[in-house]
Amino acid sequence: MTFSSLGLSEDILRAVSERGYIEPTPIQKQAIPAVLSGGDLLAGAQTGTGKTAGFVLPILHRLSDRRIKGPSEGRPPIRALILVPTRELALQVEESIRAYGKYLKLDSMTMIGGVSINPQITRLKSRVDILVATPGRLLDHVSQKTVDLSRIEILVLDEADRMLDMGFIRDIRKILALLPRKRQNLLFSATFSDEIKALAEGLLDHPETIEVARRNATAEKIEHKVHLVDRDKKRPLLAHLVKKHNWHQVLVFTRTKHGANQLAEYLTKNGINSLAIHGNKSQGARTRALSEFKDGSLQVLVATDIAARGIDIADLPHVVNFELPNVPEDYVHRIGRTGRAGQSGEAVSLVCVDELKLLSDIERVIKRKIAQETVPGFEADRNAKPEPIMKAGRQARPRRKPGS
Ligand code: AMP
Repeated sequence: MTFSSLGLSEDILRAVSERGYIEPTPIQKQAIPAVLSGGDLLAGAQTGTGKTAGFVLPILHRLSDRRIKGPSEGRPPIRALILVPTRELALQVEESIRAYGKYLKLDSMTMIGGVSINPQITRLKSRVDILVATPGRLLDHVSQKTVDLSRIEILVLDEADRMLDMGFIRDIRKILALLPRKRQNLLFSATFSDEIKALAEGLLDHPETIEVARRNATAEKIEHKVHLVDRDKKRPLLAHLVKKHNWHQVLVFTRTKHGANQLAEYLTKNGINSLAIHGNKSQGARTRALSEFKDGSLQVLVATDIAARGIDIADLPHVVNFELPNVPEDYVHRIGRTGRAGQSGEAVSLVCVDELKLLSDIERVIKRKIAQETVPGFEADRNAKPEPIMKAGRQARPRRKPGS
């Protein structure tokens, strides 16, 4: 199947082909016609499946099909709202909109926390057809009356499960109350908890439901590996692995922001070019780290779960769990970013005696045992006493992320 059989306009097809895509991914094959038809959609898909183009392309088509002229009747309204959990994801989604919409006369804007609100207020005074926003900052604009959502035709909740995890449900409900009743709703989520089901039930009207194979369930292309190691040997082991295998573009997960900083510093001191990204870093620093990582000049990016969520990097070869996540589902999200677009990938977890329970929880969720390998010189002391794991990971899930 080609893109041209999906019913998208020539201008969109040209931009897609310039991006180098030849064939739509499974989610795109299903989502594009569904969105073009104008109905609601419930899609089970996570990052890496091509879901962004799955909703951006048909939204561009629908909006450009009936472009509202301005400014004779005042400023044209915002017609599509895409809500995302994180700032990085917002930037990436908007970048996709600009790339796929380069031959269209539609304007988009990101509205995220962590940056000054004033340029956003100025930007809102000119044309915005598609708004990509994180919930917190959008509500800041609502309370300042600088944004008008009364003419939204299409709403997307992207990574809805993660938005709920981050405590955004009340913000989302407040935003929904501001939208016109008649609109098209698209909900994307990697997982379907009862909370997501309840949200979908209230929001969607006879939705078309599509689900693409979750990478965690299939994950044939991802090789999972566990290295059992002593708590205090994790850092030297990671440095050893990166150097020995000459790994590049390694995404490393830590449980805490502090842990991310310390690890990046350690690796840098040991000659491995590394940076940390997490919620305490400025937006500028995060964007810079991400672009260096993408262009290959940064060897290791150390991230917390929230910061890494939604990072769009194709063909990421290595993901390392420096610490296992407290929530087994986060393991799935973490490794979901390796082995993309048909590439093979490797997910390596450094596991100490404190984490054996977390490991078995993860194995239960992914329904497989992960092979354990010992790295010579880093054998774990089998008699080591487990210590309780700091619950600091919880700090990554505030009820409302300030300034997001
Ligand atoms: P997403 O799941 O939207 O984050 O997309 C994951 C990655 O796949 C991104 O790097 C996209 O640029 C890429 N991608 C999306 N659609 C296609 C396609 N049809 N063919 C090849 N790559 C794609």
